Amino acid sequence: MKHYLKSSQIFLFVTVLIACFTPAVQAKPTIRKDSFGKTADGKPVAIYTLTNSKGIEARIITYGGAVVSLRVPDRNGKLGDVVLGFDSVADYEKHTSYFGALIGRYGNRIGKGTFTLDGNVYSLAVNNGVNHLHGGLRGFDKVVWDARPSTGSAGASLDLTYFSRDGEEGYPGNLTVKVVYTLTEENELKIVYSASTDKPAVVNLTHHSYFNLAGAGSGSILDHLLTLNAGRFTPTDDGSIPTGELRAVKGTPFDFTKPTAIGSRIEAADQQLKFGSGYDHNWVLDKTGNTLGLAATVFELVSGRVMEVFTTEPGLQFYSGNFLDGSIPGKSGQEYPKRSGFCLEAQHFPDSPNKPMFPSTVLKPGQKYSQTTIYKFSVR
Ligand code: BGC
Repeated sequence: MKHYLKSSQIFLFVTVLIACFTPAVQAKPTIRKDSFGKTADGKPVAIYTLTNSKGIEARIITYGGAVVSLRVPDRNGKLGDVVLGFDSVADYEKHTSYFGALIGRYGNRIGKGTFTLDGNVYSLAVNNGVNHLHGGLRGFDKVVWDARPSTGSAGASLDLTYFSRDGEEGYPGNLTVKVVYTLTEENELKIVYSASTDKPAVVNLTHHSYFNLAGAGSGSILDHLLTLNAGRFTPTDDGSIPTGELRAVKGTPFDFTKPTAIGSRIEAADQQLKFGSGYDHNWVLDKTGNTLGLAATVFELVSGRVMEVFTTEPGLQFYSGNFLDGSIPGKSGQEYPKRSGFCLEAQHFPDSPNKPMFPSTVLKPGQKYSQTTIYKFSVR
């Protein structure tokens, strides 16, 4: 017995010694490529799975640069998918809901689908009532991007590039676009956009994930608490084109300067809510200049999930998923009824090419378009 105890003590001592001198095996950011099928015209589409060392996971396809799923922990550490999406390329091709997609050349609307630049009049597709929306019939959400994966200390990254030729969808200038998605070690989905042109052009790129922090397909987002770092918004006409006014939110259902349930005033008798069929407006962010600043915070009480949005952009489109109606087939049989997802699209203001009083969206040859937006996840 005496002898046995001794050897077990030695064994323990040696084990502790080995543990102390063996470097801990650290989980590392990873990125994996798989096939996601083909477009109707036969182009292969890849899906990249990005993970960070904490285990959060983003899946992004080369079609439209769309984020198909984003799995982040709840307050008990349980991973859940917080974005709406589809199972097949065919569904991404068919539907115009812009689930998770990159939007360009122009995020949101251009009035009557026309604008004048340097004396030239340009005509774009009219694909939203009498207006142009999200880059047209075949915007950046409906093309296959070239992809280059990488991993490093910052996390797992996917570089996506697209060359948009002069005249595409009616826009001027050959535009070279690059978007880098990084799933960082700080539980952020970071999106860095850049572009250059060979002719004066207009550019307003954004990202169109529909979030539901309780889990995609779990129902309404109306109980989510939203805070917007914005004292003003851009009221619109009945076709959602800004009038040019920057209106104070104080005393209106548009005041989200303090955490407020999305649904608490959404049915109020308010002309702007009527025009948007709910929230579908651009908020004027309080931060100044093009530095990265906090734009929004969303908190979902049951899961404890928190999402913060940081951006270099002057505006944020908050869309409360008013036009979802349960008719489109979500991934894994999920249903997406009205207001079961919300978008926070960092952007320049809608219709800026026709609104000289708004920050300019003109890009000239020799200039570099750049914008950065971060969706950061945590729990409370
Ligand atoms: C627009 C909505 C539109 C939605 C999906 C949002 O960015 O503001 O009006 O319905 O995208 O197309």
